[in-house]
Amino acid sequence: ESPLMKLPKIELHAHLNGSLSKETINILASMKPDSMDMIRNADDMLLIGENEQKTLEDCFMIFKLIHEVTDRPELIKFATKAVIKDFAKENTKYLELRSTPRSNDYMTMDQYVEAIVSAIRESSLDEPSIVVKFLVSIDRSKGVEMAKEITSLAIKYHKKHKDVVVGMDMSGNMRGSKARDFFDLLSEARAAGMKISIHAAEVHNDEETEDVLKFEPERIGHGTFIPPLKCQNPRLMVLLQEKRIPLEVCLTSNLKGGTVDSFEDHHLGVLISEELPFTICTDDKGVFSTSLTKEYEIAAKTFKLTVEQMWKISYDSIDHIFGEEELKSNLKKYWQHWKEDNP
Ligand code: 5GP
Repeated sequence: ESPLMKLPKIELHAHLNGSLSKETINILASMKPDSMDMIRNADDMLLIGENEQKTLEDCFMIFKLIHEVTDRPELIKFATKAVIKDFAKENTKYLELRSTPRSNDYMTMDQYVEAIVSAIRESSLDEPSIVVKFLVSIDRSKGVEMAKEITSLAIKYHKKHKDVVVGMDMSGNMRGSKARDFFDLLSEARAAGMKISIHAAEVHNDEETEDVLKFEPERIGHGTFIPPLKCQNPRLMVLLQEKRIPLEVCLTSNLKGGTVDSFEDHHLGVLISEELPFTICTDDKGVFSTSLTKEYEIAAKTFKLTVEQMWKISYDSIDHIFGEEELKSNLKKYWQHWKEDNP
């Protein structure tokens, strides 16, 4: 067994529906009254295999298909529990799941969020080794009006479940909208006590990236086109260095989504050499056929890092969680004890 499997880990960037394993997708499909053959063949249709490269647009199509198996409250609840279990199995001790609330003939957006929160609460009994929090996602491709509705919902559930619903994320296909159009909403959530993560510089768009850096979210998803490797505008890197906003790094996702050409060319190399804050994440462990352990292995192999250095990367991620301060110090103690027990 890989020593990185045993290592306690933190996952801060995991989209719920992108994290479903093929086993879970198959079980969900069989739970549906009108279960679909297309979904049954999850292997070919929904999951991107080894050495396969797609575009981000392809990935957004895949998410739409996966949504078919989580279109009812009981299915989204089952899915959430399954994902928590998967992460717990590989010694993830703290997990932030994110998801965009949806409604349809079978559920309201309220029911969608309720299902996730109750799955997280029940999992704290079934899987006591992992602490789980929830970030409500805005899918920016659905427009500002929908984002407004989602933000109100997020604030409502944050007030009701402060210990679980801790933040908001903005993700989805960025084509056709500007990040800054959503900043007022994100500020509202922030004023209500929530922390913010924004997908930015996932594709080349210097103007938008500068806007996001200046908004100063607590974390940024990807940030691929900030360091000079991918970007001709040195101002963005200077802003990142000044503000030291932690980047959520998703190696396999970026390779399979076609935004980086190889692991060696990934901007994680720059973050390490410049000693900038980051955390290693899976993004969509189902769709990209990966795991948190695999991502740690890829980082270690590509950038020649020892297990001890990987421990430090994992330990430093604790500072970037949206969970409460007391939890942070408890996690740090756990990590230190683990190190003493595993010299
Ligand atoms: P869900 O929010 O339905 O639980 O998870 C899937 C959704 O997460 C997608 O529909 C999309 O909005 C978002 N998502 C997942 N992976 C990515 C990614 O790599 N980039 C962006 N921009 N959005 C993503």
